[in-house]
Amino acid sequence: MSAAAHLAFFLIVCGAAAGSFLCAWADRLVHGESIVSPPSRCRCCGTRIGWLDKVPVFSWLWLAGKCRTCGAKIPKQVFYCELAGVALAVVAVWVAQSPMHMALGAIWLWTLMGLMVCDLSVFRLPDALTGLLLMTGFGLAWEDPGRDLAGAFIGAGVGAGVFLALRIAYRALRGREGLGLGDVKMMAGIGAGLGAMALPVVTLTAAVLALGVALLGAVWRGARPGGDQAIAFGAYLALAAALVWVWPAV
Ligand SMILES: [Zn+2]
Repeated sequence: MSAAAHLAFFLIVCGAAAGSFLCAWADRLVHGESIVSPPSRCRCCGTRIGWLDKVPVFSWLWLAGKCRTCGAKIPKQVFYCELAGVALAVVAVWVAQSPMHMALGAIWLWTLMGLMVCDLSVFRLPDALTGLLLMTGFGLAWEDPGRDLAGAFIGAGVGAGVFLALRIAYRALRGREGLGLGDVKMMAGIGAGLGAMALPVVTLTAAVLALGVALLGAVWRGARPGGDQAIAFGAYLALAAALVWVWPAV
């Protein structure tokens, strides 16, 4: 096997672990716990989960989605997140122009997935993830022969600047928070990774996706779309940034 094929295999295996970790992170944010400690336990019976029951994808299948001790259901999201982590690694392998591009691309997509899951679960975009996105964004710009770091800095500045201005304007007009600071930080990362020119497309795609989902949700519930319903817009920005990164390869 070539070095690139080894790397591809490694990233795909890591994808399941990354998905598992991100799902656990979001779950701990929901419960107000740290990701570092305590070690993972069953939410129902409190039994510590052994390493054998933490093998991504396989453990869930082997245990048929139930706790080994008490039989409580393990949320399906855990399994879906692990599969999504693998799928994103496959996408990065498929899109990549070089081994470095492949590794950075996989980290880029996993980080965006983590941001999406956290925003959907608790309306939060953790600094650790927005920070990692910014670093990865600079990495992508440095690695791409058609781009440079100066462009990445401009992209980060424009992304964060525009969203900061929107945040301030919204607060002045409506008298309450519309966009979180997490969104501002995430836009710096997206601007660094994709460049300033991609930002209008990312924002528009996110808005269309968010509107589409809100309308579908309203039709589903048989209600009128609520004007004041909170939307995890960061999740849609993350999804849009992933789509725009993949798009040139389609
Ligand atoms: Zn249990």
